[in-house]
Amino acid sequence: MSENPTNPSSNGRTQPLLLRGIDEEGLHTLEVYRRRGGYEALTKALDMAPGEVLEQLQASGLRGRGGAGFAIGKKASFMPEGAMDKYMVCNADESEPGAFKDRELMQKNPHQLIEGLIIAAYTVGANRAFIYIRGEYQRQADVLDAALAEAQGAGYLGERILGSGFSLTLVVHRGAGAYICGEETALLDSLEGKRGNPRIKPPFPANQGLYQGPTLINNVETLATVPHVITMGGEKYAELGTESSPGTKVVSISGNVRRPGNYEVELGTPVREIIYGLAGGPPEGREVKFFFPGGSSAPVLTAEDLDRPYDFDSMAEAGSMLGSGSVIVVDDSVPVVDVALKVAKFYEHESCGKCSPCREGTRWTRTILQRVDDGTATPMDLDIMASVQEQILGNCLCVLGDSMAMPIGSMVQKFRAEFEAHIEAARARNPFGDEEPEPPLPVVQGAAA
Ligand code: SF4
Repeated sequence: MSENPTNPSSNGRTQPLLLRGIDEEGLHTLEVYRRRGGYEALTKALDMAPGEVLEQLQASGLRGRGGAGFAIGKKASFMPEGAMDKYMVCNADESEPGAFKDRELMQKNPHQLIEGLIIAAYTVGANRAFIYIRGEYQRQADVLDAALAEAQGAGYLGERILGSGFSLTLVVHRGAGAYICGEETALLDSLEGKRGNPRIKPPFPANQGLYQGPTLINNVETLATVPHVITMGGEKYAELGTESSPGTKVVSISGNVRRPGNYEVELGTPVREIIYGLAGGPPEGREVKFFFPGGSSAPVLTAEDLDRPYDFDSMAEAGSMLGSGSVIVVDDSVPVVDVALKVAKFYEHESCGKCSPCREGTRWTRTILQRVDDGTATPMDLDIMASVQEQILGNCLCVLGDSMAMPIGSMVQKFRAEFEAHIEAARARNPFGDEEPEPPLPVVQGAAA
């Protein structure tokens, strides 16, 4: 068995669960997965009543690993009881810049996810399940398809699973690569064959989800954790991590670090230990300038926050969020304006255009940042941009608008002097502002002059 040095078997705080043996050859096959104890958790779960499995999930305190951090036990408890068409959906539309943990989990250990998904479906009485995977993850979708066929052949899927009264069909559905389809209700629309637009909530998917039926939606990592919760027992699992953020987390680290990759840590591990201890810190002679603790949509934190524990509540207390658990490190060689412009361009491109604060706000933000970059902005534009972010926050139908407003707002707030210096330097280089002009923004009829 060859271990990947970027996925240490022990990081000093915990033995990994989800990444244990992740680089073992053939782990993606049923044979190797079973040799390592795979599908024993499913057998154990099927010997329990669904309500007992739910109790274990609740006792574990396992919080969703896709971004929102909502406890899976609580979410599952919202599903109505009784005989009706219910659905289980796995959100594998991993599209947050900086996130690549689900890709590795699906590619190298697909049965871990499938087993967790079957257990979760059994818990809520869903007989139809889908894995919605982003279109770009072609290889991972192929691996999942092969694993699904193996699981079906071995009796883990289909009619009367392992001789129980529980039946489940599972389909791997490929998306078309839109960021917005990672939003759970847009994902459901896309799965139904419609354009992936977010729905107005309520109703929430647990009441009215896929095809109007009660639907439990969880992220890949969350579901891949479920077999471990059942094997260990919910209370034992909850002893890992912190009281309010139990368990382990697979963290994707990228940006200016020497050893980017996925690392599994116990929640509550200091950020410094993750960035410097595991990922090797920035290159020689460089310092951490700021970092996104939860993907590109999280407000940035600075070197002053490196000693905070990495968990849901600590990141929120710092004014940011853990999100999908993707740490993007930016060192002191990188201009903050470059990062802000990249973030704004991404969200402008991915906005579905359904609501105006997001559709217009992302465009205005990108336009102003471009002016900052080419020296045609004034410091007053920074105030306008900050105000645009405030007007986006909380005023959009889904979180995409906020996903741009939060990091951009935090960058302007924490690095205002650098933005101003950037304008001055760009103006000195380009005193006549003769860069390629932006097309004019539309005039709003009736707006005050
Ligand atoms: Fe679409 Fe943006 Fe509105 Fe979300 S916030 S519904 S992505 S326009």
